[in-house]
Amino acid sequence: MAEHESQEFGKADFVLLDSVSLEEFMANLKLRFEKGRIYTYIGEVVVSVNPYRAMNIYGRDTIEQYKGRELYERPPHLFAIADAAYKAMKRRNKDTCIVISGESGAGKTEASKYIMQYIAAITNPGQRAEVERVKNMLLKSNCVLEAFGNAKTNRNDNSSRFGKYMDINFDFKGDPIGGHINNYLLEKSRVIFQQEGERSFHSFYQMVKGGSESLLRSLHVSKDPTAYSYIKVGGQVKVGYHRSISALTLCNVLVFLYLSPCDLSQGNLTFGVDGDTTLIENSKVVAVIGVLLATKEENVGKALLYRTVATGRDVIDKQHTTQEASYGRDALAKAMYERMFCWIVGRINDVIEVKNYDAKVHGKNTVIGVLDIYGFEIFQNNSFEQFCINYCNEKLQQLFIQLVLRQEQEEYQREGIPWKHIDYFNNQIIVDLVELQHKGIFSVLDEACMTVGKVTDEVFLQGLNSKLAKHAHYTSRKLSPTDKSLEFDRDFRIRHYAGDVVYSVVGFIDKNKDTLFQDFKRLLYNSSNPVLKMMWPEGKLSITEVTKRPLTAATLFKNSMIALVENLACKEPYYVRCIKPNDVKSPLLFEYERCRHQVEYLGLLENVRVRRAGFANRQEYPRFLQRYKMISEFTWPNHDLPSDKEAVKRLVQGCGFEHDVAYGKTKVFVRTPRTLFCLEEQRDEM
Ligand code: ATP
Ligand code: MG
Repeated sequence: MAEHESQEFGKADFVLLDSVSLEEFMANLKLRFEKGRIYTYIGEVVVSVNPYRAMNIYGRDTIEQYKGRELYERPPHLFAIADAAYKAMKRRNKDTCIVISGESGAGKTEASKYIMQYIAAITNPGQRAEVERVKNMLLKSNCVLEAFGNAKTNRNDNSSRFGKYMDINFDFKGDPIGGHINNYLLEKSRVIFQQEGERSFHSFYQMVKGGSESLLRSLHVSKDPTAYSYIKVGGQVKVGYHRSISALTLCNVLVFLYLSPCDLSQGNLTFGVDGDTTLIENSKVVAVIGVLLATKEENVGKALLYRTVATGRDVIDKQHTTQEASYGRDALAKAMYERMFCWIVGRINDVIEVKNYDAKVHGKNTVIGVLDIYGFEIFQNNSFEQFCINYCNEKLQQLFIQLVLRQEQEEYQREGIPWKHIDYFNNQIIVDLVELQHKGIFSVLDEACMTVGKVTDEVFLQGLNSKLAKHAHYTSRKLSPTDKSLEFDRDFRIRHYAGDVVYSVVGFIDKNKDTLFQDFKRLLYNSSNPVLKMMWPEGKLSITEVTKRPLTAATLFKNSMIALVENLACKEPYYVRCIKPNDVKSPLLFEYERCRHQVEYLGLLENVRVRRAGFANRQEYPRFLQRYKMISEFTWPNHDLPSDKEAVKRLVQGCGFEHDVAYGKTKVFVRTPRTLFCLEEQRDEM
């Protein structure tokens, strides 16, 4: 436990509080925030409060202070957690992961970048060129992904609109030799629409505002963002164009040079009618799109206005209504941006993946994963995206409960160590509400999407109401007509672990089906630009060959979340829990209620209780002996006691740590890290 800090900054570890109550917890958190101590431990979990100002605690000298030290030797810091994860990986050959959670604007992305910077700074003392290259790429990739995947929202000027999990691979020396990025559900609807006060992805503004005259001319892009209906929204435009373009060159991804402009132009397409015929009103735009997509203008026009349908043996061109044409245009813009984003991630992965065959096959190759995924969100208007994001947070909370709270308790029970049960809210019930086969919300949604005939969002809502009427965490306007928070007929409400969220059912069906007319896929596949062609392989199929219904957005997302959680669950986890102190980005304001709410829903108090009741470290008897047997004459070089357990008891007694240790069936449990630290020191002195 961190005991080196003066008491005027409060307790560096919540475990050291005199008594564990919400009031004491909050008082300590507030005091530390006000004294500029933004990090506090709960054992090995870092609680971080967004300072909303530049802190002088991430420099080279600070890094040196944390390098190779034990957690409790220095004031709480992200670097200490990063170092702990690194040490566990290196010393014990363990895959580890650092899970960063918290709501939008709480500081997750910033934390993930500091962690990566730290790992980059402490590795590769030999300055191997290949390792330097990998490190450089890993750091630069952040910049590219932020340009394309982040946007200004009302919560956060640089909000991640996608989830990111990055593995960093290390060789036997502990140097990074590669990595891999998984991205999750980009909020692509932002390409075509932003709520009041929000913006589209940074990349658009970076291009429009930062591109040179000649570049923009060659791309047929106007310098004026208001010329484009997709990104018209005002606001101060920060330009990071040069930074991102240099990173792009590094990753060999310059696709946005024609794809983003194409998206922008599409937004300006409008449709009208002449008698029975649907028309494109501004045909000049079609010509530009044709050039940017390296395809014939008339093909673009046709794909925008007609859909090829197979009726029995015949294949006919069916004309869109203006509404369908607009829908198709938006779907195309979203799909192109999303494909481009995934393609960029793919290219980054090509450059950073472990290349060295020897490193892959021989020697050990261990991993540290860093997860920075969208935080829990409650907006004015919550739709399918918020629903997915909040489900993701339920999954991660469940993992936290399983790994930190439940497993801990279960292990004590298994080992026969006296243990007082601690109550906590188990959110499995909400995870089930969303993902359970046949009964869960995703299933109801998929079923509704599969209904033949005209499917509406209302049909989906009816399905929910009939299946979930009795569920404690679900209600809707129909089921609770007098409930004031449910303003409209289209509303339903989920009681999430982090609070109640009202969702509007509008758009769920469309977003889940995520239809992109086949004609567009064929159009893009037939582009003479090889990169575009590669992005749209399914465009190869002719209309009569397309039979399979693609998986819905909800199912894809659910599957990716389940895979993510499985992946995390088999690693040794380290947690950073981020708290957002206020809604106005103030470095001074600690909004008590707001913080209290986060502390509650993150389950931090339960975390402290479990930790306090618990033991910092546990090891199986033979392993413990192996490491420390040289300290005691009874155990060195071999013991003659009836069991390893007896031998460990003897060793511990000899060192005077009896009071701090409990003996389980197969493992010895050590309460405070300090004891372990002393044992390590004695071992070193031998
Ligand atoms: P989202 O879920 O919306 O992506 P987030 O949790 O990733 O949110 P960040 O983008 O990391 O939030 O942080 C929001 C802003 O808060 C940053 O742009 C920065 O201004 C400020 N901030 C966060 N952490 C720090 C820090 N450690 N030091 C200084 N400022 C910070
Ligand atoms: Mg973020």
